[in-house]
Amino acid sequence: SAPKLSPIMRMHQDATEFYHRVLLTTKAGERGMQYAKKRELDHDTLEHFKIGYAPKQDNVLITYLRGKGYQDDDLAKSGLFVQSKDGRLFDRFRDRLMFPLDNENGKTIGFSGRRISNDKTEAKYMNSPETEIFTKSKVLFHFAEAKRAARSEGHLILYEGYMDVIAAYKAGVKSGIASMGTSLTDDQIYMLRRVTPNIIVNYDGDDPGVHAEERAARMFNKDGNFNLGIVVLPEKLDPDEYVRKYGAEKYREEVKGALTPTDFFLKRLAQKYNLDNDREKITYLNEAIKEISQVRNPVEQDMYVEKLARSAGVSIESLKANLARERRKNN
Ligand code: ATP
Ligand code: MN
Ligand code: MN
Ligand code: MN
Repeated sequence: SAPKLSPIMRMHQDATEFYHRVLLTTKAGERGMQYAKKRELDHDTLEHFKIGYAPKQDNVLITYLRGKGYQDDDLAKSGLFVQSKDGRLFDRFRDRLMFPLDNENGKTIGFSGRRISNDKTEAKYMNSPETEIFTKSKVLFHFAEAKRAARSEGHLILYEGYMDVIAAYKAGVKSGIASMGTSLTDDQIYMLRRVTPNIIVNYDGDDPGVHAEERAARMFNKDGNFNLGIVVLPEKLDPDEYVRKYGAEKYREEVKGALTPTDFFLKRLAQKYNLDNDREKITYLNEAIKEISQVRNPVEQDMYVEKLARSAGVSIESLKANLARERRKNN
């Protein structure tokens, strides 16, 4: 039989059901539903991700869970509440669209709540604090479900935001996951390694997103066990915005066209220099050769050298001579 869950674990499953029901069936939830509609979240999507709504009042969840018999000392440790100076407990999440965060078995262990109001002084996303069951650095949004999808899709896709995972899911890409708005941790990379070596990174197309992709690519390459693809979306769009603007089919094509890390770095490099200027072009070529010298597979190395020679209008032989020199430096 299934192992018995601790009170804090049970409380989280109950909170997921509660917020979900509030969103779908109550008057208080209509405000959340309006926002969900604005974000184009249909019924199936709300069900799949068990999305909910935390109402505006500060005592809704606490009242519900006390009514189910939970004790205040357990409630206080759960992270679902904030405590006033005199020790009273209030709902932490208020007027937010609620995304349950699950462990590897699909059980809720924390939440992220999306602000619904326009009040920019409030954080856009609020996460559960660290608790005895919730360690941010070891959680990946949608991981339990994505693991299953990875078997048929052949990869996992890493996103920046929850709404991106959800948009991809709606577009038929079901192996999406996201870290908690922080850069990827070693623990998370280890979690991925046990599922598949094929990882596609698809962060936002804006500058912070592309920088984060660069960082992620370096981390995966350093690990050495991954076969990486990188998607850079046009017009600084994030995947959610892209799917809205161009549709599901176009989005799936972007995923199929993911760049190898080397192509990604070379493309970034080319954008940094003015290639009409000879001195800048020389620097660019040297940097590019350095990048190519990191590639382990000689056939792949050849491929990049040939492409670089063609695009820069220099001979393959001279680039290969530079590459050999670079490799001697590396050893
Ligand atoms: P939305 O589409 O709802 O506006 P987003 O995912 O596009 O959200 P970004 O600004 O691109 O938002 O941020 C990416 C991710 O970073 C979010 O999904 C969230 O996990 C995290 N994040 C953003 N802002 C905050 C914040 N104020 N506090 C905590 N995490 C945040
Ligand atoms: Mn972003
Ligand atoms: Mn975004
Ligand atoms: Mn977004």
